[in-house]
Amino acid sequence: MLDWLPGADPATRADGERLVRRALELFENYVTVPQRRRVTIAVCEIDGLEVAIVYHRNQKSADRIAGKLRKAGVAATGTSRHDHAEVVLFENEPAVNVIGISNIDGPCPACEKYFGNTPAGFANVYWDNDKWVYP
Ligand SMILES: [Zn+2]
Repeated sequence: MLDWLPGADPATRADGERLVRRALELFENYVTVPQRRRVTIAVCEIDGLEVAIVYHRNQKSADRIAGKLRKAGVAATGTSRHDHAEVVLFENEPAVNVIGISNIDGPCPACEKYFGNTPAGFANVYWDNDKWVYP
């Protein structure tokens, strides 16, 4: 089921759902099954271009997956350690309006706190909490 941060603008729900579906599609197509629990893909759209941040604890693994996404036409960048995908995407793209992420648990407590304190009150972060995502 679609889920979102408290305060997400209801007008962004359809876009949120579409971006979550896209994040999960990229996840299914480009992240191997053993990697899935370690990876989060965050996706948004800027002027019709798909922009994604791929998180993996290990930067090289994140970069490798981001490289596969770039070959598929997505403007993807890897991130690691404490720099989580949805926050990096938000900080890299000032024009971002909606973010979809592949993580079934949604943003971690630190990211949730971050989005609770952005100057413009941005909270349009969506995910799908169905368990099928991780086989
Ligand atoms: Zn986080």
